[in-house]
Amino acid sequence: SFQESAPKAWPKAKLTSNARVILEKRYLKQDNGKVVESPEDMFYRVANVIAQVEERYGKGKKEVQELAKEFYTMMANLEFMPNSPTLMNAGRDLGQLSACFVLPIEDSMEKIFDAIKFAAIIHKSGGGTGFSFSRLRSKNSTVRSTGGVASGPVSFMKVFNAATEAVKQGGTRRGANMGILRVDHPDILEFISCKEDNKEITNFNISVGMTEEFMRAVKDGRDYELIDPHTEKAVGTLSAKEVFHTIVDHAWRNGEPGIVFLDRLNRDNPTPQIGEIEATNPCGEQPLLPNEACNLGSINLKLIVTEKDGKAVIDWEKLRYVTRKAIHFLDNVIDANVYPLPMIDEMVKSNRKVGLGVMGFADMLILLQTSYASEDGVEYAEKVMNFIQTEARLESQRLAEERGTFPNYKGSIYDGVMKLRNATLTTIAPTGTISMICGASSGVEPLFAVAFTKTVMDGTPFIEVNPIFEGYAKEYGFDSPELMKKIADKGTVLGFSEVPNWVQEVFVTAQEIDPEWHIKIQAAFQKYTDNAVSKTINFANSATREDIEKAYELAYELNCKGLTVYRDGSRGEQVLSAGTSN
Ligand code: ADP
Repeated sequence: SFQESAPKAWPKAKLTSNARVILEKRYLKQDNGKVVESPEDMFYRVANVIAQVEERYGKGKKEVQELAKEFYTMMANLEFMPNSPTLMNAGRDLGQLSACFVLPIEDSMEKIFDAIKFAAIIHKSGGGTGFSFSRLRSKNSTVRSTGGVASGPVSFMKVFNAATEAVKQGGTRRGANMGILRVDHPDILEFISCKEDNKEITNFNISVGMTEEFMRAVKDGRDYELIDPHTEKAVGTLSAKEVFHTIVDHAWRNGEPGIVFLDRLNRDNPTPQIGEIEATNPCGEQPLLPNEACNLGSINLKLIVTEKDGKAVIDWEKLRYVTRKAIHFLDNVIDANVYPLPMIDEMVKSNRKVGLGVMGFADMLILLQTSYASEDGVEYAEKVMNFIQTEARLESQRLAEERGTFPNYKGSIYDGVMKLRNATLTTIAPTGTISMICGASSGVEPLFAVAFTKTVMDGTPFIEVNPIFEGYAKEYGFDSPELMKKIADKGTVLGFSEVPNWVQEVFVTAQEIDPEWHIKIQAAFQKYTDNAVSKTINFANSATREDIEKAYELAYELNCKGLTVYRDGSRGEQVLSAGTSN
């Protein structure tokens, strides 16, 4: 019904060559292995399909076209990007637009294998799945129908993992899973160590579901009870401190498991009348009810910095505009989406959760000449996210007036407080791929390197320098090929006397930042985020188990919803950086 190409007068996308390669490989339409769509055509396809939803709310052709142009422009300008499935699938056969799903696993053979089947269908469409395995009866408990014994959650996780591995060979994007087990499940120790070997259960991130009761028991040095999910009776006790130390020890070894504070997810559950939150999506930023899905999108903060009187400042008006349009876009995605299962369709349309977040936060700080590891950096994080959350709610209120509140509004935490179109609005995603498309630093992470050596297809190495650093080097007269080579070898600029001190401070990289600052930034974003924050807390290789333990305590204290740590060099392969796989 649409012409296929964006009108000539509309802005072109200023993409890096790296971004073009990514788009050509996995996002643009292909015909017999040949790319038959330009990046602009892709943005045009997405903008049209998402704007067309307006017709369902009584808008005319002209309004649809105007909105399509606004959606197109903010994507082509790289100011806002929806999650990968929306870019890949909107206006195409699959039509599945969400990145995040949570599926229930109930304690029966039929339900377990239903979940495996549903997960495979979701993986095929580019979505990631999260599961709680907490309802499965523990290893060696009896199975009534056969008189045999149960094999327990971890053995079933291996089956889920194998199914994901098989689907991987067919789909466009590798499947990703989150497996969560409550800390009071009798099989918790087996779960904590199930990824000790890096080659096991590779298609899962795992997290221990911590409870407030457990955290209190750790503090008091008490034992806590293990509950059989099948009988709901206590079947034993463990020392909370010992379990806590075992978790810390494994995270210190190779970054797994992560932890998630279940009671906090439920404290912020917007629709407690519908059910309890037991799990999150694969990277942990999106808590969801069983059978719920959510579509994400991110604002590129690198592009909201402007110059005023010769000084770099945040362009609040631009941020307001992009936030509001982005929420409108994400709400429309809910209706344009083709869901893989009828029960997911129903659940999503009843809560209408969306997750707007940011990328390019580190770039923004650099442009504002502010260190990530500073009180000013934390203050910027709070200010920006507070602003986005406020504007997102205003837009959701506007949409609620026009289109009605989300159907589960009655009985929700917003009932009688504010009328909203969406049960949640904000989430900080990893933006693994879309940040590369936008040429921005990922999510709210600091830079990983200021320069690095890259090998191109024909084997020639070349040095890729952070473009903002390159700009400063020219502007302040310390640009030289020799210096860039030295920086690329080291990755960082700390200690190079050629580089002015303030530049060294501003270009601080992930490994140089004290874990405390990583956590403070995560907490600052969490304060103004409805859902959760995707963040890795980096540690030097020399960090001790006590350092990790302190980090957990600080994250708990600062109201984070979970924590993922990574000690430099502790794993052959890097932590799952979602979406970057081929
Ligand atoms: P992108 O940049 O591609 O939009 P993100 O890195 O922000 O994606 O990840 C957002 C969410 O998308 C993840 O938490 C997860 O739920 C899902 N996801 C990411 N990578 C994959 C993958 N390879 N397969 C399935 N789902 C994924």
